[in-house]
Amino acid sequence: MISRGPGLSEFALIERYFRKAGAMRSDVQLGVGDDAALLQSPPGAQLVAAVDTLVAGVHFPHGSPPASIGHRALAVNLSDLAAMGARPAWALLALTLPEVSEPWLEEFTGGFSALARSHDVALVGGNTTSGPLSVTVQILGHVAKSTALLRSRGRPGDLVFVSGTPGDAAAGLAIEQSRLAASSDPDGYLRKRFLYPSPRVALGDCLRGYATACIDVSDGLLGDAGKLAHASGCGVRIAFDDVPVSEQLVSAVGEQRARELALTGGEDYELCFTVPPSEVDRLRHNLPAERWGYCCIGSLSEASGTVVTNKGSVIEFSHSGWDHFGS
Ligand code: ADP
Ligand code: MG
Repeated sequence: MISRGPGLSEFALIERYFRKAGAMRSDVQLGVGDDAALLQSPPGAQLVAAVDTLVAGVHFPHGSPPASIGHRALAVNLSDLAAMGARPAWALLALTLPEVSEPWLEEFTGGFSALARSHDVALVGGNTTSGPLSVTVQILGHVAKSTALLRSRGRPGDLVFVSGTPGDAAAGLAIEQSRLAASSDPDGYLRKRFLYPSPRVALGDCLRGYATACIDVSDGLLGDAGKLAHASGCGVRIAFDDVPVSEQLVSAVGEQRARELALTGGEDYELCFTVPPSEVDRLRHNLPAERWGYCCIGSLSEASGTVVTNKGSVIEFSHSGWDHFGS
């Protein structure tokens, strides 16, 4: 319940901004408007659920474009479903607002809705309260029984892949926070990679049947690949020179820092997944890397722990202690 100011009533606000946000789906028997939504799951499917909160000043800078906040709040959740190989269907949105600003809400729901529609996700309910700006999205989706991609099914020898070009979003965030000069990103590509990440839902969906394990990269590739390896009871070896980086990132920070940022930056919302060597030809044939934008960066090992190699030798790499833009 939000405090009643002179502007829109809570009812009018919900009607105007949330009733028609997102996609229309025939499996929504009752959406926004009642005490709870009624949703019809397909027979034989498992329900897949995830929730994530973005707090202003913590997960996005104060004053971020409202469309980006709406986009990211959904994108981070879509990315979690992508990592499970699940298809998203429904979302709930819990919004805490310091004030009711109609232009802000217009842009916020515009960003949320555009991404929701592009993934055929319906907004089926939520909650609106007053307080410091924070956005929580719960996502619900489906996967055929027992086919979900888990973090824990990797095996020693499996090859490790990553989609996209990690590091771009971390550089974009640094530019948003004036820790990196905006002139290093002349066409705004890096900022866009932070403000409007592309959750790899289609790739996750296609990886069922190829990948043994999968995780989405939100906290930095090195750390997240390490989490996958740990969950699988393995270690991971990553070849520094095989980590993909965008030409925009390289021209912004140089090749060495670009790779360091790709390994440790975070906010990428790419997929890191493992494929047994015997399945790699089939993967490459059926899901061509040029089309799907992934590449091999290393392999899982028997020995636990995360190791980065450069031209065959192990290099020291501190995940936590890395100061990306410090002097
Ligand atoms: P209740 O008090 O029963 O929780 P509310 O009056 O808070 O219901 O909400 C009325 C309807 O509007 C509910 O269907 C709820 O799911 C929906 N709703 C409220 N806020 C949002 C929001 N931010 N996004 C989507 N739906 C919302
Ligand atoms: Mg109620």
